[in-house]
Amino acid sequence: MTFTRKRSEAIFEETKKLFPGGVHSPVRAFNSVQGAPVFIDRGEGSKIYDIDGNTYIDFCNSWGPLILGHKHPDVIDKVIKTINKGLTFGTPHELSYELGKTIIDHHRYIDMIRFVSSGTEAVMSAIRLARGVTGRNKIIKFEGCYHGHADSLLVKAGSGLATLGTSTSAGIPEAFIAETIVLPLADPELLVEAVQKYKDDLAAIIIEPVPANNGLLLQDAEYLQLMRDLCTQYGVMLIWDEVISGFRLGFEGAAGHYQIQPDIMTYGKIVGGGMPVGAYAASREIMSHVAPVGDVYQAGTLSANPVSMAAGLATLQVCLEEGFYHNMEKKTMDFTNRLQDALDQKEVPAHIQTIGSIFWIAFSKGRVQKSSDIDPASMEHYKRLHLHLLENGVYFGPSGYEVGFVSAAHTKDDLDAVIEVVNSL
Ligand SMILES: *Cc1c(COP(=O)(O)O)cnc(C)c1O
Repeated sequence: MTFTRKRSEAIFEETKKLFPGGVHSPVRAFNSVQGAPVFIDRGEGSKIYDIDGNTYIDFCNSWGPLILGHKHPDVIDKVIKTINKGLTFGTPHELSYELGKTIIDHHRYIDMIRFVSSGTEAVMSAIRLARGVTGRNKIIKFEGCYHGHADSLLVKAGSGLATLGTSTSAGIPEAFIAETIVLPLADPELLVEAVQKYKDDLAAIIIEPVPANNGLLLQDAEYLQLMRDLCTQYGVMLIWDEVISGFRLGFEGAAGHYQIQPDIMTYGKIVGGGMPVGAYAASREIMSHVAPVGDVYQAGTLSANPVSMAAGLATLQVCLEEGFYHNMEKKTMDFTNRLQDALDQKEVPAHIQTIGSIFWIAFSKGRVQKSSDIDPASMEHYKRLHLHLLENGVYFGPSGYEVGFVSAAHTKDDLDAVIEVVNSL
């Protein structure tokens, strides 16, 4: 059977008239790869099925939430049971207690948590909390880290430390940009210099401890520790954005992996098991600043709604099973080693970076730690690989800057099949 996506192409032409770029989130538009986006009809386990009748082994997994793969029976059962009792009440509900308690009982660095409805909302709230606690305004973020689309975080570096950053989106007031300092990753000297320069007005340093939104830019543990120490020394809140790494690297995410305690952690993706959920968490002392106990306001009509809580709870209960993360990591490492060999054989210049069940193909000779080390021209390799994979039943995210996620549903046969497809490149 030859690959076509005629129905996807036809409906995409129509959706472009209705939605900006035909989509509701930019990267879905396939602008960085070839052809029209595929419209997915359904998913099951490791696979997704499009409206043209094509089947794909999925490594996007809805950008990370589906650590168990599609339509895991425990998750679906719990969601359906919950739905049958009503969708939302805007009142306290036992399922948020259960999910919150499950997280707090199994995470050594969390005393209290607040659920919201997206990763963006979690980060936005965490920044407000950091500002509320410290009484300061400025934040430091890093080039190549994504924290959702809150105004103060859509900022990239200017030409030097002394100059202001520039926004990566229209519609962001200069005044917001002025409060955000952007640094390159993996540069301890610049970090120390910036903290010392801005310390009196610095509320927070925010980082993805495992930067996974612009390639997979793994940082040195010493660098992360230095950041922790500087924050402690100067009374700055360290925010670890664990929206991807949380419950992915291990139940305790990157904090558990590096054994570093951030002041505030943000979550999303896996914590909602495929439903819209975000969360921010910290010590009891810090969380006591949040309304209605404290004076940092934050609220949400659908926050902690039962259906989302049910999906998150069922997902995390499976993650807590003995050996879950160990198996995921082993499976991923074995797969990416073979993928590396297959690409080497094809003489594609690739260096696969892996942590936990996250992987990224850097089309470079060696390890990449900052976004300026990624050669945009290397993305041509990704375009070619992406189309070949798609045409042969393997779905990778439609951009070479996106990471891949192995799920618990991927079987040995699935992973063998992918290697075969790469061998036929
Ligand atoms: C996905 C992501 C966000 C934003 O989460 P949304 O649910 O898309 O708003 C924030 N931070 C990180 C690290 C992410 O990966």
